Amino acid sequence: MLHAKAEDAGRTWIEVNPRHTSDGCECCGHAAPENRVSQAEFVCQRCGHKAAADAHAARNILRAGLALHTATAA
Ligand SMILES: [Zn+2]
Repeated sequence: MLHAKAEDAGRTWIEVNPRHTSDGCECCGHAAPENRVSQAEFVCQRCGHKAAADAHAARNILRAGLALHTATAA
């Protein structure tokens, strides 16, 4: 459903594997459940990077999608 709507709107649809988008650090790549100190907060246990968990996960998903897009467009 979403896929068809995106194509109707002339958008590119990219499916992203959600693995480690919520517990992988956007700075150093360290992925661990302990990075999620609470539902709302991400704190990397390796580099100390702190972020709002939802926004952090969204940036990880965006980066993964853009990387896939670059890989498939080449
Ligand atoms: Zn980190």
